Amino acid sequence: MLPTRLLATRTYSTASNRFRVVEVGARDGLQAEKKFVPTEVKVELIDRLSACGFSTVETTSFVSPKWVPQMADHNEIVKKHKRFNGVSYPVLVPNAAGLKNALATGVVDEIAVFGAASDAFSLKNVNSNVEDSLKKLLEVTKIALDNKIRVRGYVSVVVGCPYSGDVKPEVVARVAETLLEAGCYEVSLGDTIGVGTVKSVGKMLDTVLKSVPANKLAVHFHDTYGQALANVLVSIEKGIRAADSSIAGLGGCPYAKGATGNLATEDLLYFLKGNGFETGVDLEKVVETAKWFNSAAGYDKWSRVGRAISNKMEAAQKC
Ligand SMILES: [Zn+2]
Repeated sequence: MLPTRLLATRTYSTASNRFRVVEVGARDGLQAEKKFVPTEVKVELIDRLSACGFSTVETTSFVSPKWVPQMADHNEIVKKHKRFNGVSYPVLVPNAAGLKNALATGVVDEIAVFGAASDAFSLKNVNSNVEDSLKKLLEVTKIALDNKIRVRGYVSVVVGCPYSGDVKPEVVARVAETLLEAGCYEVSLGDTIGVGTVKSVGKMLDTVLKSVPANKLAVHFHDTYGQALANVLVSIEKGIRAADSSIAGLGGCPYAKGATGNLATEDLLYFLKGNGFETGVDLEKVVETAKWFNSAAGYDKWSRVGRAISNKMEAAQKC
């Protein structure tokens, strides 16, 4: 038998090698895509993603179709997609009206709420500064919890704001703490415009981790400047074991026209697998799903890893 010390190390290492990938392509990805994707394609995308092994698949947003026409079919989406055992399907809810609509469907059991870490961003997006928007968020969270709905929190623009530049890590920490105290089971820290680097992300995380435990945090990087995977690595080094990503890197950055979208799920999975992490997600199946999505939606979106694996799979078929 192994000495207790080694056993303990082993248990720790097994636990720390589990990594949760939250698939956000159907919501965060598609909401930034101009070309409308038909409802039945979105529904099948969600079902196919569920079959890939993700434990969390974000599905849509209960935002006004006036603001985000791509998400106008949210009622149908949540009613039509399948619900796999052990998979949760959060929907983004920007305010109390969105929550009311989500509750009215009778099928939503998890929502995601978001607060920003910059007054300028918050004012542009939800018409109130960070403090006031937090108050509204707490009300939405409370109503959701009273209705037995799980709540995941997002903090946007955690390292840089498109309107006011650098963001103070202390503000990120306070927003994250507030969301957790309100009852969110996890808070995802989002570099919404993808400007973070190992240095700025590391500094932000060091501040947040002083008051929030790593196992309550996820990270959410956009790959605008190609820094997303490096930023995941620094997050892993600081103890975080959950990240959001988007199949085929769907999405974009509204503040940098033509920019790359979210960190691509395929790239993240390849990176995690190569570094010894277990995700429970089948990478080849994700690549097949991306290929299917491109043909079903008339898109041509590929991540670097997705393209490489797809080419390899095609070459193997020809042999
Ligand atoms: Zn995002």
